[in-house]
Amino acid sequence: MILSNPLILNCPGCGAPHTCINMLSGNTFGGIFWSDGFYLAPMLPDIPRFTKCYKCGLIFNQHNCPKTESESEETDRYPEVSALEKEDLITALGQNVHEGNKDDEIYLRIRLWWAMNKRPFHADETGKLTVDAKYRENAHALSFLLDDSNVEHLLIKAELSRNLGEFKECLNLLSKITDARSEDRIGQVKAAALKGHNAVIRFR
Ligand SMILES: [Zn+2]
Repeated sequence: MILSNPLILNCPGCGAPHTCINMLSGNTFGGIFWSDGFYLAPMLPDIPRFTKCYKCGLIFNQHNCPKTESESEETDRYPEVSALEKEDLITALGQNVHEGNKDDEIYLRIRLWWAMNKRPFHADETGKLTVDAKYRENAHALSFLLDDSNVEHLLIKAELSRNLGEFKECLNLLSKITDARSEDRIGQVKAAALKGHNAVIRFR
């Protein structure tokens, strides 16, 4: 992972300074991956696109706010931008903080989906996911935004279908993907669908 000087972001509402790591390059070496796309990788931190101001509580897109590269140690004094919690993600979507931008809505809905999923630590663990109305609503809204001609999107749609217990649809979507790099993961999601398991799995 190659880092440059941290960035200083100012809240568009109150101007409060936040810091954000400035990653020039990273990689997923040594990472752990789950079937919903969530991962933990020491060399590739998930830098939040949306954050909540620690001072005034405004939820904002860090790509659309005043930003400067820090040139001194001053940034040590400022809080770091934090990822939105589940309730904040629901608020953000309700407030349309993505301003109708489809990619940003996909981003927020994926984060909300991740926040609602339980993730097993072990690769051979399977569990039952209980789908409530909020989960279903977000899953359907997310699925509707995705594009079937995009392999990544198809994988997400297949996993959403499996999570909702729509195993036939999951297998149907997986059968449309012809991407050699995804073969191993597709196989693991398919195996879970065939067993009637709807919870997120950790990839081997
Ligand atoms: Zn603020």
